[in-house]
Amino acid sequence: MSSQPRALVTGAGGFIGHHLVKRLKAEGYWVRGVDIKHSEYEPTAADEFEIFDLRRRDNCLRAARGVDDVYALASDMGGMGFISSNHAQILRNNLLINLHTLEAAEMNGAKRLLFTSSACIYPEYRQMEAEVTPLKEEDAYPAQPQDAYGWEKLVTERLCMHYREEGRIETRVVRFHNIFGPLGTWDGGREKAPAAMCRKVAIAKLTGNHEIEIWGDGEQTRSFCYIDDCLTGIRKLMESDYRDPLNVGQDRLITINDLADMTAAIAGITITKKHIPGPQGVRGRNSDNTRLRQVLKWEPEIPLEEGMARTYAWIESQVRERMGK
Ligand code: NAD
Repeated sequence: MSSQPRALVTGAGGFIGHHLVKRLKAEGYWVRGVDIKHSEYEPTAADEFEIFDLRRRDNCLRAARGVDDVYALASDMGGMGFISSNHAQILRNNLLINLHTLEAAEMNGAKRLLFTSSACIYPEYRQMEAEVTPLKEEDAYPAQPQDAYGWEKLVTERLCMHYREEGRIETRVVRFHNIFGPLGTWDGGREKAPAAMCRKVAIAKLTGNHEIEIWGDGEQTRSFCYIDDCLTGIRKLMESDYRDPLNVGQDRLITINDLADMTAAIAGITITKKHIPGPQGVRGRNSDNTRLRQVLKWEPEIPLEEGMARTYAWIESQVRERMGK
């Protein structure tokens, strides 16, 4: 029998899942990717790619057959525009996906499952100011996530904990803070702030109309983590003995207005910002990386400017293609 390790990546047709498949392949894994859609921007690197709706238990059981490691990334999600509405859909779909994925991993005898949670689990009352105190893992409780998306992640975190405590399967839980990079959704309503900003700036550059719309006053703050760092964090956590939820994100805080100016500088244009009503999420959010540094002896290292330059270049090429320029 081959000793090649075997991994399942759910959500492999999505942004992080697609990149994770490539990383696992480069590390020598046999990989099965599963999603309800194919990767949009380039072919998958997976050995097997199956189109399954993972809300269904029978599909999860088929997806998890014969693998050592399960990376549970499949999720009905998007940027603020998407997750601040669609609450019932998000809660229902993601609960079904995650309940069935965990059960299927255990029943198929997988060794480990890594669940991708989110900074959206943190309580709204700790994120009321733009100059926010960075969020430590233990700040999750008393729980009060802003949206159903965060509540579902929190419930699945606890499900992972109980499965592990009862000896059913080893679990790892990562809480991502705004991951961005090339090959991520950049239009259609599910895109996140960095991708939306790159698209708006690219359109401004290519049309000559340099007015950019920004939701709210633009003084809301976030930290943003480049995809390559995210993948390194996932792999290090999966290999580690650490079992509690762990932040993976950058701890450099930036306002959305400054992110817009940074993107415009990368594109080589000057923009005018037009602030319009729109969903903004919490006022401020940042990652406290103290535990990350202790546990993994590492933290994200790719500077925001560098990540945004790579992302902007890819999105500008996408916009050019769309506009026939
Ligand atoms: P994504 O939307 O690009 O990928 C998720 C994938 O799940 C999509 O391809 C989607 O088609 C698939 N999916 C949805 N419903 C499905 C179903 N019923 N059956 C099978 N597949 C289904 O999102 P992403 O940015 O790659 O995020 C990956 C994971 O990381 C998600 O669990 C997400 O909640 C989490 N996360 C991401 C971020 C971020 O900033 N990108 C932040 C926090 C947490």
